[in-house]
Amino acid sequence: MSRLSVKNHDRDAAGYKYIYPVNSRRSGGLSIGINFNTNNACNWRCVYCQVPDLTIGAAPELDFELLAIELTDFLQDVLHGTFYQRFEIESDRRVIKDIAISGNGEPTSVDDFSKAIALITQIVEQANIPHPFQYVLITNGSLMHKPDVQAGLQVFNQYQGQVWYKLDSGTDVGREAVNHAGLSLLKQRENLIISAKLCSTWVQTCVLGFKPGKGQGGLLEALEQQAYLSLLAEVIEQVPLQGVMLYSLARPSLQPEASTITTATLQQLNDFAESIREIDLLVTVS
Ligand code: SF4
Repeated sequence: MSRLSVKNHDRDAAGYKYIYPVNSRRSGGLSIGINFNTNNACNWRCVYCQVPDLTIGAAPELDFELLAIELTDFLQDVLHGTFYQRFEIESDRRVIKDIAISGNGEPTSVDDFSKAIALITQIVEQANIPHPFQYVLITNGSLMHKPDVQAGLQVFNQYQGQVWYKLDSGTDVGREAVNHAGLSLLKQRENLIISAKLCSTWVQTCVLGFKPGKGQGGLLEALEQQAYLSLLAEVIEQVPLQGVMLYSLARPSLQPEASTITTATLQQLNDFAESIREIDLLVTVS
């Protein structure tokens, strides 16, 4: 027997290739994660990333049949089997809160992304979950321009899915320093607008800084904050956003830069949250 504690985010905990349950303190229940990036590959390399042995690349070819079997089995186990007992989930957490497409890399990099979203939503529909839950796609947004990714978001939107869109900087320098991403500011803004037009979109932002002499960028810097606010203000002139989820690092980075970054304090997060609220956006802090 394995205990699925709120600290146990090990994607192998339940023994599946694609499915990983998380006993989520944030949501107060079970979060069903779906990981397409079983090769730990991402097209970005964020300095705070908690994926072990992260490599640059895309998700491998998806085994649709196996995904279907795993998701069907897992939902059956949770809804009608002994999953909660075997994993000793607290009785008040025995409820599916969300189904999150979120993996060890960028999920939209998988080939046939829209087919995967259609398959997942179809299987979940068939399982007939008896209470409300939320679909979430956690993405860095860099592939939003691809027609297949947009088709996937359209399907997701039919099920009231939400996109949690990573935005850690409003400058090219900051994005390069924090995310090691080649995406230009212009492209970042365009892609965020595409996402928000297709699907309800939250911006998800990690606030961090670099230790003296270790680099520049990150939203602890005043100029970065101004650029970020300008970017968001431009976006919401064109399309509504659900809001911004601000967070600081809860767990240590597994990347080589781990020792060079500084975490935001709660006060710093709250101060920045106030500035974002001034442009009329909802903000949560964690
Ligand atoms: S986008 Fe996500 S998975 Fe990719 S490097 Fe950044 S934090 Fe890691």
